[in-house]
Amino acid sequence: MGVRLDLSPRHPRASPRPGLAGLSRAALAAALVEAEISPPDKARMRTGQVWRWLHHYGVTDFEAMTNIDKPTRGRLAERFDLARPQVAARQVSADGARKWLIRFQPGVEAECVYIPDVGRAGALCVSSQVGCTLNCRFCHTGTQALVRNLSAAEIVAQVQIARDDLGEWPSAKDGRRLSNIVFMGMGEPLYNLDNVAEAIDIISDNEGLAISRRRTTVSTAGVVPQIGPLGARTQAMLAISLHATNDALRDELVPLNRRYPLAELMAAIRGYPGLSNARRVTFEYVMLKGVNDSAAEARALVRLLAGVPAKINLIPFNPWPGAPYECSDWATIEAFAAVLNRAGYASPIRTPRGRDILAACGQLRTESTKARASARRAAEAHVA
Ligand code: SAH
Repeated sequence: MGVRLDLSPRHPRASPRPGLAGLSRAALAAALVEAEISPPDKARMRTGQVWRWLHHYGVTDFEAMTNIDKPTRGRLAERFDLARPQVAARQVSADGARKWLIRFQPGVEAECVYIPDVGRAGALCVSSQVGCTLNCRFCHTGTQALVRNLSAAEIVAQVQIARDDLGEWPSAKDGRRLSNIVFMGMGEPLYNLDNVAEAIDIISDNEGLAISRRRTTVSTAGVVPQIGPLGARTQAMLAISLHATNDALRDELVPLNRRYPLAELMAAIRGYPGLSNARRVTFEYVMLKGVNDSAAEARALVRLLAGVPAKINLIPFNPWPGAPYECSDWATIEAFAAVLNRAGYASPIRTPRGRDILAACGQLRTESTKARASARRAAEAHVA
């Protein structure tokens, strides 16, 4: 288990000035005009300049915006704030994975993980909510109640913080270590689709972070009515946390299945815009010993996915304290994969990354509710 080092000040500064990282170009232009930083007829040019500094160069100080005159930089600094949310803890795994615990405000924290050698170069696994409402039986995050949705700015901030740490400003075209984004951290992105879609608009902008929609994957446990809108609004790649091939078992593992059973889920997936052999759906399947890992289930999976351009990620179950499952044996996982391979599916076995720092799939969890309770207790003690 990793050691968590808390380097944060006791009382983080909460800026009264609004941030700019979560604004679309149009909203940024409106903010600059409203703050009388720019007259309406010059807003386009100013917005383009500020946008590039924010999202291409990643600056955190208006003084660095050297093509903007000094008085304007001063006025920007009076009205707006460029500070990142606080990194409350940072851990690096023996395998190179990095995990940041990000404090968005006191008591509201989420984790974000960089995984090398995933996607073209490396993937950033971002959180969309603090806590989660889904209660999947095998997922540690599911044991933490939902605290709240993250804003678009807070989602973008996770990418900025990873870029800061990897030293990848300004955005490079080639040789990037952070090449892909996966919404596979804490929370259910399709319960926060507005903010997720806004964040993807910002992250994919070519004059900014420039991580393309095709290299962005949104994973859902199966919020059926939002799957079509996700495709229409983001053109992101779709991933489905499947884990079972029949409703009885899926009802137990992923309780959301009781609301949106497999037949409805598969129909929504088949309707996802833009699917082809070059743009496949990723199915995630966690390998739980004696629960969903038989050869018969592998064959059922092949039947279920018939006709869907698909790849299947087999995820060895990552244990966490008190988890009610065990990971399947390696030989069982290989036998399962062999059935899928024979049916023509790429089915890589996801080597667990960052297990030593509890950064692997399903291991993310923060103390956000607890922290709030203890803060309340501290406040009460203070009053008494
Ligand atoms: N709520 C979304 C986004 C989270 S993705 C979703 O369910 O897709 C996190 C992925 O890790 C999901 O595929 C989830 O099923 C998987 N996962 C959760 N707990 C895990 C564990 N203990 N071991 C391995 N994978 C796990």
